[in-house]
Amino acid sequence: MNKTTDKTGRNDSMLRLAIMGLGSYGTRVAEAMRDCKKAKLTGVISGTPSKIKDWKGKYGIPEKNCYNYENFDAIKDNPDIDAVYVITPNALHHDEVIRVAKAGKHVICEKPMAINATEAQEMIDACKKANVKLLVGYRMHFEPHTLKIVEMRNSGDFGKILFFQGLVGFTIDDPNQWRLNKALSGGGSMMDIGIYAVNGSRYMIGEEPVWVTAEEIKNDPVKFKEGIDETMLFQFGFPSGAVASCLSTYSMNNLDRFFLNGTNGFAELMPATGYGPIRGRTNQGELTAPDVTHQTVQMDEMADIILRNKKPLIPADGEEALKDLKIIGAIYEAAKTGKKVSLT
Ligand code: NAD
Repeated sequence: MNKTTDKTGRNDSMLRLAIMGLGSYGTRVAEAMRDCKKAKLTGVISGTPSKIKDWKGKYGIPEKNCYNYENFDAIKDNPDIDAVYVITPNALHHDEVIRVAKAGKHVICEKPMAINATEAQEMIDACKKANVKLLVGYRMHFEPHTLKIVEMRNSGDFGKILFFQGLVGFTIDDPNQWRLNKALSGGGSMMDIGIYAVNGSRYMIGEEPVWVTAEEIKNDPVKFKEGIDETMLFQFGFPSGAVASCLSTYSMNNLDRFFLNGTNGFAELMPATGYGPIRGRTNQGELTAPDVTHQTVQMDEMADIILRNKKPLIPADGEEALKDLKIIGAIYEAAKTGKKVSLT
């Protein structure tokens, strides 16, 4: 990319981004992007005119870069936007990502990328066909404490890895929110936050699971309807013989811990996946790494991935998301059948 500044003051080395879905997480990303050095918010896509008006004022977005869900295909003719970040309810990601790809723009999609592996594969295929990149909002893949543990593991500091434990949960409140509506969420706690333990198992152990067992626990069938898991216990086996044991829940507060154990040591992150600060320790002592705003670092790194083909230590692309969704599908199957499900 050339790094000149054009007449409007635009720096061509910046990733120019439109956010689709101006809800709670979209707002967090927009605020964090104020401090980005390599990415810049230049557009919005929203179905709510009052939010567009508000964002135009807050972030200096020009009218010509504002779209709604009916007309956003026209983004293809907008030279001020390189990529769209899809931050809408899970079940909408599939169609929205494919429309963005067809408009010839790179896509960043929130987790879970889709509500099943079939959809995820279609999204990957559409982005490949359109020759655009597809990344997923896996912010922990750029978080310094997390990366330090992965580097230590790669250096053999913990010896042969034997075990991972991932605990993720919060108490969900409003019973009418989209997270508790299967048509929009695709599932319960597993889809929303269990994915952090699934994804974490893979990057902390550094292998892909080969089998899954799982059990669903539902104490409140009124709040957590059919298809919305309240609590899920799940276990993985890995080719090396390492195992993982995880819990995902919508009914326990402040549950956010990763633990990795090997023949020569251990690593603990607690909190492991919250917005920060992330804290951790290993058998060598307190883990020291910079505290960062996750979304600022993520977006600067994603600018390098999209514009300059940077390869991150932990990939954050559509293929990664597909792996997670295949595993989540297997977890649901194992919970339903009571059987061990093979992933090979
Ligand atoms: P939210 O409800 O706060 O925002 C969702 C936005 O989508 C709203 O602005 C809403 O108006 C819009 N929307 C568009 N079409 C809609 C429809 N048909 N029904 C309902 N809303 C519609 O939700 P959120 O917490 O911002 O979550 C959005 C996405 O971001 C989800 O996929 C979620 O998993 C993900 N997320 C990721 C993180 C993270 O740390 N990476 C954190 C929170 C949420």
